[in-house]
Amino acid sequence: MNSAVRGLTFSTVFEAAADAMILADDAGRIAVVNPTAQRLLGYTGGELEGVTVEMLIAPRYRKQYRYYQDLFLRRPAKRAMSAGNELIVLNRDGKEMLLDISLSPVKKKQQLFVLIIFNAARRRLDTEEALRISEERLRLAKQAAGLGIFDYDFKRNIVFWDKQMRKLWGKNSENTVSYEEFVAAIHPEDREARQLAIEKAMDPASNGEFKAQYRIINPQNGMERWISAHGRVYFESGHPHRLIGVTRDVTEQKKIQKKLQLQRDETESILKQQVAARTASAIAHELNQPLAAISAYSEVVLHALGSGSSSYSHLKRALEGCVEQAQRAGRSLHELLAFLQKGELVTERSSLTEIVYEALNVVYNDGYGRFRPVLLLQENLPEVRCNRTQIQKVLVNLFRNAIEAMRNLDSPDLTIITRLETTGEVEVAEVIVQDSGPGFDPNLMKRIFEPFFTTKPTGIGMGLAISRALIEANGGRLWIDTNAKPGAKFHFTLPFEPS
Ligand code: ADP
Repeated sequence: MNSAVRGLTFSTVFEAAADAMILADDAGRIAVVNPTAQRLLGYTGGELEGVTVEMLIAPRYRKQYRYYQDLFLRRPAKRAMSAGNELIVLNRDGKEMLLDISLSPVKKKQQLFVLIIFNAARRRLDTEEALRISEERLRLAKQAAGLGIFDYDFKRNIVFWDKQMRKLWGKNSENTVSYEEFVAAIHPEDREARQLAIEKAMDPASNGEFKAQYRIINPQNGMERWISAHGRVYFESGHPHRLIGVTRDVTEQKKIQKKLQLQRDETESILKQQVAARTASAIAHELNQPLAAISAYSEVVLHALGSGSSSYSHLKRALEGCVEQAQRAGRSLHELLAFLQKGELVTERSSLTEIVYEALNVVYNDGYGRFRPVLLLQENLPEVRCNRTQIQKVLVNLFRNAIEAMRNLDSPDLTIITRLETTGEVEVAEVIVQDSGPGFDPNLMKRIFEPFFTTKPTGIGMGLAISRALIEANGGRLWIDTNAKPGAKFHFTLPFEPS
């Protein structure tokens, strides 16, 4: 030990120590208290000198303290600070403090003193720190989620609320508000439903959960906000005594919901309009041809009657044509409506070859234009199961489009192929309709199956859309070969009649 240290007195060190220290005699009476201890306990040195240490201990721990003091005095030895060496001490204001304590015997001229060194217990500091962190986290989470907190005390009929809620309610300072005042800001139309939700949660038979959405009107600026409240009723001896919960401003969410609903309604009405327009177009598509034919036959009859030159059989044939076309229009409409209403599809076993011939006949008789059919129909092709009229309609439509596309050609070839195809493991009947016309503009190719897509001045653009729907309703597929040359090449399949 160097000489400078040797000169240091006990009281210099005692006064300078950062830890709180008390020196007590063997009767437990305080001899001297250092400044740190005075600060921690809130007493002056003079107030404590002569007082027993026991008087500083919380009364309920005094007995326990006496026991340890006796133990120490009987066998004085150093006892370091450690978990378990903690005492609850009262400061001058009577506030309890958990302290870590160490005890050291000090002997001076045969007299035993006890040096008590103490500090605010680490355990308490840790707990306080953890609490502070957790409160801070809660505050940040609450802030991030935009949550307000309320605590409705049923007995006192008041509501404790935080800053966030006060802001929404347009109130400034008070931490509490009377329940009546709280409810006054709620939109009158929403009060009843909210009250019912509270009453339901207050029922001891329920799980106490409270959920409600209501509007509040800020009295300061008259602004209306939507609030979503979520909480729980707490019961005491079976009686509801408070409702604690959180609120969130959901006004923006509500606005978006409303906008979405409006958009949905709008889409629905557009969809309905489209369905109506499509139905009307499909009907127009079906009626166009027979009406044109009826008009042509009628003109023939009128002309003949006007000129007085026509024979009876000539007139009869024209009128029969009218009747036949009118009946065809009726049949088409009937089938179309059944199809649109998704009525049950009536199918039968049919020969594809026969259907191809029937369709060609319709095209000949209706006089769509010149063409040279090239038929490559597979012999002994098994029968298919389909709705005959619908498949005929598809073929007529494909033939008619092809003939129209070849109108300006010298050799308008319409090639029709039927064959058996195996897709995967399944065998299907395939029909190919290829013309020698100009084919498709590659940019428009993707769109030809879209409803209303047409490049013709008087076209409706429903033929291919309806044809595809009809083939699919019959269990097949309709597509276009994008690499075909020359002209356009359509394929469709149909299932065979199960054997
Ligand atoms: P529409 O005949 O009323 O126009 P479609 O749906 O039957 O309606 O046909 C849609 C469009 O597809 C036609 O306007 C035409 O541009 C094109 N198209 C259909 N078939 C052929 C074809 N064989 N050759 C060239 N273009 C075709």
